[in-house]
Amino acid sequence: MHIVITGGAGFIGSHLVERFLSLGHQVIVIDNLITGKLENLTLNKDLTFIEQNVCKYIEIEGKVDWVMHFASPASPIDFKKLPIQILKVGSSGTINALGVAKAKKAKFFLASTSEVYGDPLEHPQKETYVGNVDPISERSVYDESKRFAEATTMAYHRFHKIDTRIIRIFNTYGPRMRPEDGRVISNFISQALTNKQITVYGDGTQTRSFQYVTDLIEGVTKLLDVDFHDPVNLGNPDEYTILDLAKIIKNLTNSNSEIIFKPLPEADPKRRRPDISRAKQILKWEAKVSLESGLMKMIEYYKEIKVGIKI
Ligand code: UDP
Repeated sequence: MHIVITGGAGFIGSHLVERFLSLGHQVIVIDNLITGKLENLTLNKDLTFIEQNVCKYIEIEGKVDWVMHFASPASPIDFKKLPIQILKVGSSGTINALGVAKAKKAKFFLASTSEVYGDPLEHPQKETYVGNVDPISERSVYDESKRFAEATTMAYHRFHKIDTRIIRIFNTYGPRMRPEDGRVISNFISQALTNKQITVYGDGTQTRSFQYVTDLIEGVTKLLDVDFHDPVNLGNPDEYTILDLAKIIKNLTNSNSEIIFKPLPEADPKRRRPDISRAKQILKWEAKVSLESGLMKMIEYYKEIKVGIKI
């Protein structure tokens, strides 16, 4: 197949590119490298890289089977640094990407997020839960642009009859996540490996459920083959408090770091855990990698890229 991946030089996008190349597909990556890195990609004859902002008109030559829209800064620190870029890529970027799918008679795949549930009042979160999002908080730039992206995808599906898929990705980690990304696992491992203070925001009782990236990629590839258009949660339902996560990472790295507490960012969700019954039923999929084994792989990777050199 010929597959266009927006954001293909990013953390998740690049794992997807790798998987599709290994399956023998032709891949075209469109990425403006705002948070992605060219080093995440191994260029070869089956891979074309276009350095472009997907908010600008996209022109692709030849046949396209799938347009997969994975472009967007996604870390809470980006919500402050890149708010307008996030709003644009979720809105006009999504419309442009859908436009390519329409013009090429291709299928369309949207990477959405558990952030559409906001600070959820239902737990765990099922796809039918419509969310609790503050439209003006600092997080809203990401939450609302992804909600807009989902609405747009469904409108193109209903009105233009485009064959679409939507996934809601829950907290995902793994190699190629930038050490400076600002998210909790990359922060805690970087801090633990360098014996710096481990920064727990708030009192650490808020929860998250962490999925290793290979599990996510497996779920994505399975959904390509299933004719299903409503959103599908992809995540690992094992739920941890952030304080427990800090202790686990400190132990796994044999670190002397002190665990300290810092203010909780605005609108930080208190609990998050996916209900994955839908994915289990339609994809025969569930996350397999335990937190401990995933963290060990991530720690090894950070040591390899020298995040962990003790000074
Ligand atoms: N967090 C933390 N210390 C950090 C980074 C994040 O305690 O150094 C907390 C953050 O406040 C949130 C959770 O960890 O409650 C997950 O944050 P992350 O940025 O990874 O993603 P989110 O799920 O909030 O989008």
